Amino acid sequence: MKIQAAIVAENGGAFNIRDVEVESPRDDEVLVKIVGVGVCHTDLVCRDQYFPVPLPCVFGHEGSGVVEAVGANVTKVAPGDHVVLTYKSCGKCVNCLKGAAPYCLDLYGQNFAGHRPDGSNAHSCDGETVHGHFFQQSSFATHALAHEQNTVKVDKSAPLELLGPLGCGIQTGAGAVMNSLRPRAGEAIAVFGAGSVGLSAIMAARVVGCSTIIAVDLNEKRLELARELGATHTFNGNEDGVVDKIVELTGGGVDFSLECTGLPSVARQAVDCLILTGTCGIIGVAPLGTEIALDMNGILFGRSVRGIIEGDSDRDVFIPRLVELHRQGRFPFDRLVRFYPLSEIQQAVEDTERGDVLKAILRP
Ligand code: ZN
Repeated sequence: MKIQAAIVAENGGAFNIRDVEVESPRDDEVLVKIVGVGVCHTDLVCRDQYFPVPLPCVFGHEGSGVVEAVGANVTKVAPGDHVVLTYKSCGKCVNCLKGAAPYCLDLYGQNFAGHRPDGSNAHSCDGETVHGHFFQQSSFATHALAHEQNTVKVDKSAPLELLGPLGCGIQTGAGAVMNSLRPRAGEAIAVFGAGSVGLSAIMAARVVGCSTIIAVDLNEKRLELARELGATHTFNGNEDGVVDKIVELTGGGVDFSLECTGLPSVARQAVDCLILTGTCGIIGVAPLGTEIALDMNGILFGRSVRGIIEGDSDRDVFIPRLVELHRQGRFPFDRLVRFYPLSEIQQAVEDTERGDVLKAILRP
């Protein structure tokens, strides 16, 4: 069938809307009419080839929409269902089998290869193959071809056009708190980087009852929003002695911290502000090969540092939970969102990169 999709043709290039031909779903695939798709930094760093996703490619991995057609073996969803598209895992490796899908040993191949796991491609433009299957969805488009596994059914009463970012950025921040770090009520957390991921972590920290929720960012507007969404204290990262101030404020350091910027110097601060026995979660995406320096004795006395992918989200369980928390008004992630028509994707990307918008959602 003919669809419209945003194609990036070269490293760092523009997103251009083109007429694209897409195959009908294979036996285990789902065709989704996209109603909203979030713009995530992962789309932009892949456009910039931090990870060498082959070009030309259709990006987009925070899609939500209505199921239009399903392959012969699909049982999880049916035409007319409302769905959020999320990340894909192989389902067969040792980590998938033990229930740790975000750490699938083929996570890269399943999400960043620019084709199906078998090497085939469903998209073409003017007779030339276009790479797609980004996160097995490529949802910067009017329609996305997903796999049954990374298609999550959601309640029809929920605001579908808003829900796409729950499939990646929002679940990454919220899940890092609710699934990975799991602070207990009354504990303290510091979140470095108050973008859409960090602010999702802050909202989640309020949901689970952290008593001290610290946001650190360079942007005063974001810090103000962080306070509205649950931060009890905020620091501008340009201030001197932020780590010392956090240690003093909390009487020895925070129980948990999250690094959401991808910057080594900030990761160091996130570790240094921990109490002894505290844990720092690393979420920010940096170019391959980026190293961080830590004081060995700073770790020796019981601190932990761990990487967290997709907020350790058990997709079919966690995404509907976030939808319900939003419905109750306890997880108001709509405060982060600005809508754009799909045709204005380049504007949405530029606004995102300038920091003018926290979470752009494109509506085809
Ligand atoms: Zn796997």
